[in-house]
Amino acid sequence: MSKAQNILVVGGGVAGLAVAIGLHNKGIKVEVVERDRDWKVYHVGIIVQANFIRALNQLGVGQAAVEAGYPFRGARFMNQAGEVLAELPGDPAVDGLPSDLGLTRPALHEVLTREVRRLGIPVRLGVTFECFEDKGDRVDVTFTDGTSGSYDLVIGCDGNYSAVRKVLWPEATPKFTGQGVWRYNVPKPVDLEWSDIYIGEPHSGFNGKAGYCPLTATEMYIFAVIEEPGNPRFAPETLADEMRARLVGYGGILGDSAKRITDPALVVYRPLEACIMPDPWYKGRVVLIGDAAHSATPHLGQGAAMAVEDAVVLAEELADKDIDRALRSFMDRRFERARLVGTSSIRLGEWEMHPETAGDPVELTDTIRKKLAEPV
Ligand SMILES: Cc1cc2nc3c(=O)[nH]c(=O)nc-3n(C[C@H](O)[C@H](O)[C@H](O)COP(=O)(O)OP(=O)(O)OC[C@H]3O[C@@H](n4cnc5c(N)ncnc54)[C@H](O)[C@@H]3O)c2cc1C
Repeated sequence: MSKAQNILVVGGGVAGLAVAIGLHNKGIKVEVVERDRDWKVYHVGIIVQANFIRALNQLGVGQAAVEAGYPFRGARFMNQAGEVLAELPGDPAVDGLPSDLGLTRPALHEVLTREVRRLGIPVRLGVTFECFEDKGDRVDVTFTDGTSGSYDLVIGCDGNYSAVRKVLWPEATPKFTGQGVWRYNVPKPVDLEWSDIYIGEPHSGFNGKAGYCPLTATEMYIFAVIEEPGNPRFAPETLADEMRARLVGYGGILGDSAKRITDPALVVYRPLEACIMPDPWYKGRVVLIGDAAHSATPHLGQGAAMAVEDAVVLAEELADKDIDRALRSFMDRRFERARLVGTSSIRLGEWEMHPETAGDPVELTDTIRKKLAEPV
């Protein structure tokens, strides 16, 4: 049994780019195929915390991410009127870098793609696998551009609707959790230094919670996580009206900012569909990481962090050990942590939909934040 020397990464998103950087930095040859020819990401923002910054820093791009985003003080819980109920400040610094950060998806993508290009890691756009065959000591892959290759390991980083997962675990599909998430970017009040989450029962008849997160000195994004019975589909031209309707009854900054949700083309709506794979996330010489292995709901703002942590740990293990031992060791370090985040995120959503059975969301969020601040 030998160490991996030649790896294919399927999917050039957060997990794929992070693992490609991590493997390259460990001296392992890696190439990426990305299905989207334009390599586009949504224009909305993501909220990240200490563990994301620490993991990116281990890849050498922590500082670049901080410069591309907007550090803020932590999370606050508000009542429906916009009065502060609780403050959960982030750690003052992680490896000298701020612990809570908002950044736009395009800014994060730019940080990762710039580093991939700087390192000279090959990325083929508009290409994916057509089929692959695990030969025991290698995986033979045929690509959609008519080429083929042979690799010691294939890493499926192709997101929530992973085609790699479908080949190996056809029965594992993301399931609708009962909620959808609405997102929209708006101007940020000059003195806002927190990401705020409003808890309460708005008067609009929609059941859920909403808030916002700073992205730059002048911009923030509003999110609303709402119960959407029956998993409805919305006509694109109605999205701004639909989102505003879900924010009726909120006061404070949220109520004011919701009035700016006017362009339906800039609303990003996603039904929440989760798929948490059991241990192990690998079969033979193919392994899943990121959303392909454990997509959850956004309640803890941890999807991107889990993807980058997976990448860092997998690269470390593959650099140190032969492939079988590395994959087992990777699972031992990753499974419980990702499962905890995934199941806790889904539980928070269930509490929102069934308040009669709910525990304390502030306490659960705080417990997980503290857990995740510990090194992997
Ligand atoms: C609108 C939105 C907002 C979010 N906000 C947050 C947030 O605030 N905080 C947070 O932590 N997380 C957030 N998330 C979740 C976070 O984006 C994901 O958890 C994270 O991107 C997972 O990374 P990934 O690389 O596994 O998947 P992705 O980032 O989805 O990347 C998958 C990549 O694979 C490519 N691909 C797909 N299929 C194939 C194929 N067959 N062959 C080749 N390539 C393929 C895709 O084009 C894509 O580039 C958000 C997600 C969405 C959609």
